[in-house]
Amino acid sequence: MLSPARPYWDAALETQSRADWDALKLQLLQKHLLHAYHHSPFYRASFDAAGVHPEIVRSLDDIRRFPFINKSTLRERQLAVPPFGDLVAVPERDIVYISASSGSTGVPTASPFTAQDFDDWIDYEARQFWSSGLRPEDRYAHSLNFSLFVGGPCVLGAQKLGALSIHAGTVPSERLLAILRQFQVTAIWTTPSYAWYLGETAIKEGIDLRKDLSVRRIFVAGEPGGSIPETRQRIEALWGASVYDYYGLSDIFGSCAGMCEEKDGLHWAEDHILVEVLHPDTNEPVSEGGRGELVLTTLKKTARPMIRFRTGDIVSFTSAPCACGRTSIRLQGIHGRLDDMLIIKGVNVFPSDVEAIARRDHDLTGEYRLIVERENHLDRLTVEVERSAATTATDAELAGRFAHHLKAVTGVSAVVNILPPDTLPRATHKAKRVEDRRSGVWG
Ligand SMILES: [Zn+2]
Repeated sequence: MLSPARPYWDAALETQSRADWDALKLQLLQKHLLHAYHHSPFYRASFDAAGVHPEIVRSLDDIRRFPFINKSTLRERQLAVPPFGDLVAVPERDIVYISASSGSTGVPTASPFTAQDFDDWIDYEARQFWSSGLRPEDRYAHSLNFSLFVGGPCVLGAQKLGALSIHAGTVPSERLLAILRQFQVTAIWTTPSYAWYLGETAIKEGIDLRKDLSVRRIFVAGEPGGSIPETRQRIEALWGASVYDYYGLSDIFGSCAGMCEEKDGLHWAEDHILVEVLHPDTNEPVSEGGRGELVLTTLKKTARPMIRFRTGDIVSFTSAPCACGRTSIRLQGIHGRLDDMLIIKGVNVFPSDVEAIARRDHDLTGEYRLIVERENHLDRLTVEVERSAATTATDAELAGRFAHHLKAVTGVSAVVNILPPDTLPRATHKAKRVEDRRSGVWG
């Protein structure tokens, strides 16, 4: 058993200098691009068409000469060459595992792994869990879906580091609470909105989250909330536990980045995935701290290399030193998805900006809904939030305060409606909090 006092899973790797990270990434990138070119018919054709070859890569910046792919590429190639598409760069006999995207829009895409890819991934998950403070003496309940979902096998990372791992899956809340109570579970993983919902459900059932349960760590992923300090702090206050945000992508890994115990951004798996953050219109890299689209290139995953995959996620990052001593770059925020971004009166507004304001004001429950309409050719934003108290006496003041903060943060004016507590629908998993009624008006 590893000593719980050991600060890092792999100290030499995790604390190396930025120059050493870059040298490692360059070496991995050159090898990975060659593998893609020589073993994937898609990449050979696409690199040839773009007039690029892996041997031109002399620095990490040279990745910018290679063509992009996106979710549509994966779907199209999978339909053209079923069942896995011709981005695959190994014979099928070498594939031991596939995950598939949820398929909420269009055809689900399958992400294949070789045995080595799978082992690399689980080792990374163990490293990530270790950085978030999970230790061999923990009892960990994995409350993510196992059905073809890439988040399922992440539980093996907890098991690898020696934690007692309970493969709970997405059971009904009452059942999950019973598991947490019976086994006095110390750590769980779920979505931020479900962590919130589960805590509220427990309280309604008369469970004292601090006395009756032992949950001290909550890992969250799947929604921007975990990186919004106000949301995280309210879940922490509800549970008396520490909340760690993780970021994953079904087409790559269960988690690609996660928070260490400092919770100052999400450390990126730089030895597995090369990160670019690009302005969505110009494709130029944004400066550190600026918001841009996350574009990813795998560095090791041989079954299906992903070269310059446009995620559609809007993020910001930093390479400033972290107090934990790890030197990997950190995602500072996952601000939303390009397709979640609302353009209201010509201004970009992310639901996560509104969420931060709703969660910061302790006279509100933190639930919210955005309604966007168009009236006389003008956009109109209505924000619905709930007050915590039963009385209507302070509604006007609450609404004024919210509208003022919203205007300060986003530059957009809104009509703010204060609703009684428990009016807005509670989300169980991925929350739907935006209603854009403009679509259809202009065809
Ligand atoms: Zn750190």
